[in-house]
Amino acid sequence: MSIYADWGLRPIINASGAVTRLGGAPMPPAVLDAFRNASQECVPLDVLQGLASREITLHTGAEAGCVTSGAAAALLLGTAAMLTGHDLGRMERLPDCTGFPHEFVVAREHRNGYDHAVRTAGARFVEVGFHEPISGAGVRRVEAWEYGAACGPQTAGILYVYQSSAHPPLKDVVEVAHDKGLPVLVDAAGQLPPRSNLQDILATGADLVCFSGGKAIRGPQATGLLCGRRDLIAAAAIQMLDMDDYFELWNPPPELIDKTKFRGLPRHGIGRTLKVSKEQIMAVLTALRLFASGAYDAEIAGHHQSLQQLAAALIGLPAKCRLIESADQQSLPWLEITLDEATLGRSAFEVCRSLRNGSPGVYVGHWGLEQRQLIVNPLHLNSADYAVLTRRLSEELQPRVVA
Ligand SMILES: *Cc1c(COP(=O)(O)O)cnc(C)c1O
Repeated sequence: MSIYADWGLRPIINASGAVTRLGGAPMPPAVLDAFRNASQECVPLDVLQGLASREITLHTGAEAGCVTSGAAAALLLGTAAMLTGHDLGRMERLPDCTGFPHEFVVAREHRNGYDHAVRTAGARFVEVGFHEPISGAGVRRVEAWEYGAACGPQTAGILYVYQSSAHPPLKDVVEVAHDKGLPVLVDAAGQLPPRSNLQDILATGADLVCFSGGKAIRGPQATGLLCGRRDLIAAAAIQMLDMDDYFELWNPPPELIDKTKFRGLPRHGIGRTLKVSKEQIMAVLTALRLFASGAYDAEIAGHHQSLQQLAAALIGLPAKCRLIESADQQSLPWLEITLDEATLGRSAFEVCRSLRNGSPGVYVGHWGLEQRQLIVNPLHLNSADYAVLTRRLSEELQPRVVA
């Protein structure tokens, strides 16, 4: 029953959740049906993105939206839109931004590996703020006025990487940006749930917000959502869609692209590299409906019980288990296993490696290793997986007898 086994590859047990390295989120049956059914007929892709825009608008309150090939793709397209607006000449030249504003202001503490996406569109970062609590040199993090002070004639926008603890609050940064007439692009890729974030982040006035489709929404791994201002969504969509047509024949859906704002048809834009298929679009929209309806909440109780059983099976071994539940009751619980490395005679890092290299490979969450913790995220686990995971953890957590 395993396509990977049929092709000679042993599948792993994914106890890490919807991480890209291990293939993203499990797609619900309705999402897989949508993918298959979408493949059976054809529709023009711009018309389909018009439908996507209406659906995304419904769930987010945005003026418009489009489906992208991931949140990173949404970042690139959102940047491109802010760089070009409806200017066909600029679209043609990206990522060459010679002669027009292309600086994006970003807090040093927001820089991360995904900002390649912003730079790939042609933008150049201007960094602000320090993270003095981390360097031990002070108490203050980046402040809103620093964004304003860094904006000048070459500024095209502000990049903000959202999380609930992000500082300063997004609405303060939006206020500073809008005072200067500049747009704010928000990376909120993994900030769902809570479901309320679909609306709340945009409600700060942020101009464009990016979400992953392949994380908590459980759409195809290579999907994302870009939502926000209608004119910017149009500029983003047009730089992603295939443009091999005649202007006279081109009939884009007005809710997505206002044709009257264009004097000609651009050629393929910088985002043509990031195309999404009709199957991906219908699948992620179906997943978005499920996610927004709260359909996934029904799984919380079952995983809670399974994780409790797993913790019970580890009693007596040199590890302490803590079951963690989200306050909003919209995220799956997870298990934090803190190792007594001295008694065990091995580090959490070594145990993590042995689990991966065992048979089958077991991938637990690795973001607590420096605190001696293995994390079990149950998103992908079925009852057979729980049995294997319990066996492998029990084996690896036996104290080593030192001769
Ligand atoms: C996951 C993530 C991304 C990338 O999202 P994809 O949908 O995989 O492209 C970007 N930014 C942050 C902060 C993320 O967590």
